[in-house]
Amino acid sequence: MKDYYADLGVSRGASEAEIKKAYRKLARELHPDVAGPESAERFKEVAAAYEVLGNADKRAQYDRGVDPRNRNGGQGGPQGFGFEDIFETFFGGGGSPFGGAAQRGPASRTQRGGDTLVQTAVSLEEAVFGVSREVQVDLADVCSTCHGSCCTPGTSPETCRQCNGAGMIQRTARSLLGPVMTQSPCPGCGGYGTIIASPCGDCSGQGRTHSRHTIVVDIPAGVETGTRIRLAGRGDAGTGGGPKGDLYVEIREKPHATFERRGDDLHCTLEVPMTAAALGATMAVETFDGEQNVDIRPGTHAGTTVKLKGLGVGRLQRAGRGDLLVHLDVHTPTDLDAEQEELLRKLSTLRGEEMPAATLAPIGGGVFSRLRDAFKGR
Ligand code: ZN
Repeated sequence: MKDYYADLGVSRGASEAEIKKAYRKLARELHPDVAGPESAERFKEVAAAYEVLGNADKRAQYDRGVDPRNRNGGQGGPQGFGFEDIFETFFGGGGSPFGGAAQRGPASRTQRGGDTLVQTAVSLEEAVFGVSREVQVDLADVCSTCHGSCCTPGTSPETCRQCNGAGMIQRTARSLLGPVMTQSPCPGCGGYGTIIASPCGDCSGQGRTHSRHTIVVDIPAGVETGTRIRLAGRGDAGTGGGPKGDLYVEIREKPHATFERRGDDLHCTLEVPMTAAALGATMAVETFDGEQNVDIRPGTHAGTTVKLKGLGVGRLQRAGRGDLLVHLDVHTPTDLDAEQEELLRKLSTLRGEEMPAATLAPIGGGVFSRLRDAFKGR
């Protein structure tokens, strides 16, 4: 049988007050916030000893040679649950109400900082090549006055008097199986086991302050609306000295006046004069890569596409770039003067087209098909 008196370091004749005092002292010393996680087992031992010796009925039972916490001994009374079960229920197996895996004892004030999302807009040209961008973001920093302790410098957290640092309040409830021990987070300290009696004035006891940060983000080529760039460990500072969260920069791509993006390709429409479409020409087009010559072959139809390879959007996390697809539109003049009209009539006569014969293009050969193909997103 366990020696609870030894666990608390008191004699068998110790008074109720002595037992309580010894427990409080040990709970303070062994508090995981103070002594670290390696003290958790000993902390549990002390809590178990006090559970028995701090209760007059259980202590009397224990003094008669029956461990009230021993459910398998056959002499442990009618209890359906031992302290261990309750402890495991609250702290074991990742089901902890404080989110910690197999956490024992009071909840820790040390938490990872939150993730932060900030949005930034990029032009299409910036999405094509990538860009280095400064973003403004409000972030939590560790308070420079209390260094995250939340306490006025020179003070430290005090053990909660309501739960004696355990972070938990135990109650014995009656059930059909007899008395059952239940635990709930201490309302006095919120389950932390300690109270910030003198909060730091500069952070109102939060341990963190907020300020505006300017962060330089390398935005890679190929981002699009909705792309999130993760900057690990650049988010909010954690509480109680916890690690920083992550910062996410979400991209919004601004539309361009003449270029349209489809995946990694860029599309634009070039108006080709009717004569150039018939006779052929070379036209200079201003692209994101400077002026590029677009070759108009003689006899070009409206809807023809000229592909400028590798002048599209840089591929995200891959090498290379998409293509620039120039869609040719044949511009029919509407402002002919008398001389031009005369020339065209002469041409029409020469070609025998005064009364043009109606010819329907076969499926797949007309403007309608070419337009449809162009927008299939190749
Ligand atoms: Zn502070």
